[in-house]
Amino acid sequence: MERLEDAEVACPSCWETVELTLDLSAGSQTYTEDCPVCCQPMQVRLLVDEDEGTYTVDVEAENG
Ligand SMILES: [Zn+2]
Repeated sequence: MERLEDAEVACPSCWETVELTLDLSAGSQTYTEDCPVCCQPMQVRLLVDEDEGTYTVDVEAENG
């Protein structure tokens, strides 16, 4: 079953707050997403703790 969660993060390129939709059912993953504000790619690192039902997300500039 899909488990989607909205999270707000600060873009590492323009520092605007952007909203990401995370797919927690896919587990921990790292992927690249373009910032909707400045269009720069950012690397999203999602860590899902399936036992606790919690997650942490953190972003960094892809070419950083
Ligand atoms: Zn940006």
